[in-house]
Amino acid sequence: MAAKKKKVKVQLVKGMKDILPDEQLYWNLIRTKVENFARNYGFSRIDTPIVEATSLFKRTVGEDTDVVSKEMYSFVSQGGDKLSLRPENTAPVVRSYIEHGMLNLPQPVKLFYIGPQFRHDNPQAGRYRQFWQFGFEAIGDEDPVIDAQMIAISYFILKDLGLDIEIQVNSVGDSASRTEYIKILKKYYQDKKKSLCKDCSLRLNKNTLRLLDCKNKKCQELAEETPQMVDHLSEAGKEHFMAVLEYLDELDIKYSLNPKIVRGLDYYTRTAWEIFECSGKEGKLNALGGGGRYDDLVNILGGRETPAIGFAIGIERVIMKMQEAKVEIDKGRGFDIYIAQLGIEARKKALNLFEDLRRAGFSVSENMSKKGLKDQLEAADKKQVKYTLIMGQKEIADGTILIRDMESGVQEIVDYKKVKAEVRKRLDRNIAKNLKLKK
Ligand code: AMP
Repeated sequence: MAAKKKKVKVQLVKGMKDILPDEQLYWNLIRTKVENFARNYGFSRIDTPIVEATSLFKRTVGEDTDVVSKEMYSFVSQGGDKLSLRPENTAPVVRSYIEHGMLNLPQPVKLFYIGPQFRHDNPQAGRYRQFWQFGFEAIGDEDPVIDAQMIAISYFILKDLGLDIEIQVNSVGDSASRTEYIKILKKYYQDKKKSLCKDCSLRLNKNTLRLLDCKNKKCQELAEETPQMVDHLSEAGKEHFMAVLEYLDELDIKYSLNPKIVRGLDYYTRTAWEIFECSGKEGKLNALGGGGRYDDLVNILGGRETPAIGFAIGIERVIMKMQEAKVEIDKGRGFDIYIAQLGIEARKKALNLFEDLRRAGFSVSENMSKKGLKDQLEAADKKQVKYTLIMGQKEIADGTILIRDMESGVQEIVDYKKVKAEVRKRLDRNIAKNLKLKK
């Protein structure tokens, strides 16, 4: 006899999250909303692999960013390749754009994705190690109207999901003015090094812009007084930014200027924004996502100079905010028909009837493993069924079936062979009645 295996309780890995059936209603709603926006604004879906070469993120997101230096799930494969689970999706999309010659398509190439990302972050409410983002990328156009449209998409998707949203926007400048500005910042912080937190004193030389959005209180105080990027933009950079803001005004988007928005990743240029939910707990602002231009990224990855812009929004955070704000979501419509059966012969026949009706396009439901009629009628009630078809020994012997109107409780016997037509007749009557009521 084989030795009995010891019972071991295996649990969810830290920082991971199951998405249970109840929550799927939110996920479906968000997915549908994203797909509808994508269709209207002309974005096509792209899915890139979860695993990429580690160098992809080192070269783009930046070796000195927290995401790459501390949070990546990196490993060496059996074949000796250095790989990582993607911590974000923009660099993979741009890799794919270059690799598949999308440079030769009419520009801009507009792509969207929905997928899991992985960061070895400290888990807490709304922060996981596997989390989902949806994102939009428009590659190959530098017109400021595209910036405004991207901000608009990120804003209106979340507004449509019932959230109170504010956009905070900044310009981090093109690479030349950014380099100049970083020099100015370094100078500003030179004699203040001692007051910086440990992370920021390390960041000062490697990732200076991040000092502006450090959460440490002392660092935040120092950041209040820093020279601002918007005062050091080139003429063209200023013009671009002003045009973006004008379009945002035109679209009536709720936004504010925030010189501290620098975004965590290295590749951002010019327009950068973050998306906040602003009716949340204690009026606290909560970042749901962010985006920006990344005009140098295609070039960094070996393509020709190509302006581009994108944003990403965290789905778990959005759902958390929808739940906090008690956004009502449609639980989906009930079923038209439920099939109830009593006795083994009836059950066999019911299995086939279910398939028959389903194939014929009826919205039909069942609980074949339940035996009692009371249980089945209760289940039908819960599912907001309009009609229940009941089959027992007697009906099988007579070649009939019972149709029960679930609202009135009235039951009628009909010829089993005509069941489809009888159900259809009643459903049509129901539709006509509802239309009359609406008038
Ligand atoms: P980022 O790619 O860092 O700009 O993040 C964009 C959005 O993704 C954030 O505003 C969050 O909504 C979401 N996000 C980022 N990291 C996490 C995480 N560890 N867990 C859950 N959501 C996250």
